[in-house]
Amino acid sequence: MKRKVLFVVKIILGISFLNAQELFTESYTLMGSAFELTVVADDEAEAQEYIATAKNEIERIELLISSWDSNSETSSINQNAGIKPVKVSKELWDLIDRSQQISKITSGAFDLTFAAVDRIWKFDGSDVEMPNADLILASVSKIGYHQIQLNEKKSTVFLPEKGMKIGFGAIGKGYAADRAKQLLMARGVVGGIINASGDINTWGTQPDGSPWTIGIINPMNKEKVFSWFSLEHNAVVTSGNYEKFVRIGGKRYSHIIDPRTGIPSNGIISCTIFATKAELADALATATFVMGVESGLFLIDQLPNTEAILIDDEGIIYASKNIQIEKD
Ligand code: ADP
Ligand code: MG
Repeated sequence: MKRKVLFVVKIILGISFLNAQELFTESYTLMGSAFELTVVADDEAEAQEYIATAKNEIERIELLISSWDSNSETSSINQNAGIKPVKVSKELWDLIDRSQQISKITSGAFDLTFAAVDRIWKFDGSDVEMPNADLILASVSKIGYHQIQLNEKKSTVFLPEKGMKIGFGAIGKGYAADRAKQLLMARGVVGGIINASGDINTWGTQPDGSPWTIGIINPMNKEKVFSWFSLEHNAVVTSGNYEKFVRIGGKRYSHIIDPRTGIPSNGIISCTIFATKAELADALATATFVMGVESGLFLIDQLPNTEAILIDDEGIIYASKNIQIEKD
């Protein structure tokens, strides 16, 4: 009899122990974007320590991949374009190597060297007419992921032509979110969300054991979530930053550049990718934007554990084959 009572007490204690964990969230501007860091923790002090760990890691990565900071490894690669190979950390070398592989599977729709066009398009409202065609052509000649020369033994990166440039705008936030998550998991944090202004990376569950869920919004109707998902894929990334676009001759262009033409892509206004890693999801969201609905979905349907939801400029919603969306 006594035993039975003890058993009951134990269970109750167990449950109240589980419930004692709570969610803690802090917001920061990191990598020029709004980040929201959420962790499951026992108390405020523990949560603050975890969140600081994640924040430091994201700031460290920002220093590594920044194109604005003239002292970053990335800037050094760009400054030495057409001059000499630059020795970089293994971390940056590996990131560039993985980026090359994503370029290959996306037939160059995702391309780190897109950055050669950055002087032409400003996306700050000042572009009203098509920039000079010769200028665009000249910049496109400096684009080409296959031209990046990587030497693994020496850990060097060489951009063979003057004016070539790499930029991590389409993959950096995803990479940072993956790293922050890995660090916190290694610390024993049981659950959390790294939200890098819409690039979302989760692990574990909510404190009550239920899965994280995410709502997808149609940019044509921002008030309404059209679909809720529980996050089995961990990472979900949306490209389609509705604030950054240009309008030329009545047509709306995104801040994502088609590396083949040097012209911003149009047609798709929102692209959401589900994947196990935020880095891949981030790069694929950009690539799918450039590839368009048909080629984009064709690619996504061939990749394991990767799904997509696309919205075109008429508000029509498309999804990869394993996603069912209820439309109304
Ligand atoms: P956001 O940063 O708004 O979430 P993305 O993740 O799609 O959107 O990244 C867009 C950024 O990626 C651009 O601002 C630019 O820095 C960079 N970029 C643009 N076009 C390409 C491209 N074709 N390949 C790789 N990077 C690109
Ligand atoms: Mg992206």
